[in-house]
Amino acid sequence: MAMPHLTKSRYVAGLQCLRRLWLQVHEPRDYEEPAPGSPIDVGMEIGRKARLLFSGGVLVEQPPWQHADAVARTAALMRDPSVPAIFEAAFTHHDVRLRVDVLERRPDGWGLLEVKSSGGVKDHHLDDTALQAYVLGAAGVPLRAIEVLHINMAYVRGRGEIDWPAFFARVDVSDGLADRMTDVPLRLPAMRDSLGRETLPHAEPGKQCSNPYACQFWNRCTEDKPADWVRYMPRLTAAQADRLDALGVSAISDIPLDFPLAGKQAIIRDAVASGQPYVAPDLARLLHRFGPPACYLDFEAMMPPIPLYEGTRPYQTLPFQWSLHVLAADGTLRHAAFLAPTDVDPRRKFAETLIAALGRSDLPIIVYSAYEQTQLKALAAQFPDLAAPIAVIIHRLADLLPVVRGAVYFPDFSFSNSIKAVAPALSLGFGYDDLEDIANGTEASAAFAQMASGAIADPAEVARLRQALLAYCERDTLAMVHVHRALIALAQPG
Ligand code: SF4
Repeated sequence: MAMPHLTKSRYVAGLQCLRRLWLQVHEPRDYEEPAPGSPIDVGMEIGRKARLLFSGGVLVEQPPWQHADAVARTAALMRDPSVPAIFEAAFTHHDVRLRVDVLERRPDGWGLLEVKSSGGVKDHHLDDTALQAYVLGAAGVPLRAIEVLHINMAYVRGRGEIDWPAFFARVDVSDGLADRMTDVPLRLPAMRDSLGRETLPHAEPGKQCSNPYACQFWNRCTEDKPADWVRYMPRLTAAQADRLDALGVSAISDIPLDFPLAGKQAIIRDAVASGQPYVAPDLARLLHRFGPPACYLDFEAMMPPIPLYEGTRPYQTLPFQWSLHVLAADGTLRHAAFLAPTDVDPRRKFAETLIAALGRSDLPIIVYSAYEQTQLKALAAQFPDLAAPIAVIIHRLADLLPVVRGAVYFPDFSFSNSIKAVAPALSLGFGYDDLEDIANGTEASAAFAQMASGAIADPAEVARLRQALLAYCERDTLAMVHVHRALIALAQPG
């Protein structure tokens, strides 16, 4: 077996978990185009935009599988003094092959820039930057600056196009890299050993699986775990996990009765072990201010990394859609909805239509999390002339999530209190499976952002997505109606 080479992404994977590195190389998943709005998609888009800061820069176009050609092209561009910057510059040192986002020519050498789509420099960004600095140092490149180019969260879009130099922030990280660069050659041997193995290295799934990145092999590594694996227990502390490991307990249903559990953990253990749901004796009291009659409200919002509208910032939350069910005292259910046009900042219309729809009644407005309240407060701050009616809406909000979290647990919740887990468990036959195009908030946000940015402009596709958005948001408020009805039934004596 030829020894696989290392890259930036393999090095970062190896730092997180040697098993992940092995799987990434020996059992790679089929390539899929990154989903619109996914971190990879955003990272690629921000990387392309960053090149606009370096006028006259030249892209090394050779793909990863033509690395030797890319290295030769990079060397030629470095020898050409008319080239001020090189994008995707390629280098090799022993078995490490990498591409540098931007290599900027300086009077006395070169500057290395790593582009990140985050709003600042994070600790783990320094690891792949250190690997690059180490390899370039070994290749004899005189590095005069090592920088991270990230999104400037203080940037506010003005009229017209994005001001790219203002959109990005450059941070010199040279000072913080010395220790990590020293660590690079110390870490590489373990990665080579792991890669050279013919069999999959063992690693017990744990905290490393989500830090700093969610590992794509989670399902692979947990496929032999019990359905009620102890790691699924909400709020399980490291000390609890260690003690359960020492006791040889891997299933929640096997946790001994005298094992110290906190909060709702013992209730979950008992419900899973017995298969019986838990309902707090005071559920009726907890529901007293929720009606019915009642309103059920849900928002969808997007957080575009590149601001789409004048006056907005990177990653600013912009609500664009609401759904409202109203359950009358006689049991009739009415639905209303708003989905903003995409050509203007949606917030003003969103707020005005919501105020009009909720009217002057004093019915409780049931939500499922504090998210709606947070967005309403932001809208009140943005539009002072609407602050008074928004304050009235906030005053009427009644959050059902703490009631579910504190007073109810069904084994079918699958260790989650999300509305998508709770509603189907409490209301047989209710679900989201028939929603094909948009079935969660991430997909809703990505769909609206793509239409707003112009990436999706085909009228038929736009019409289809808008219909899917309306159907999805309506399903979320209908889920609240179902959950509320089920809770009322559970609270009935006998
Ligand atoms: S899921 Fe966890 S244990 Fe498995 S490869 Fe990924 S990081 Fe390692």
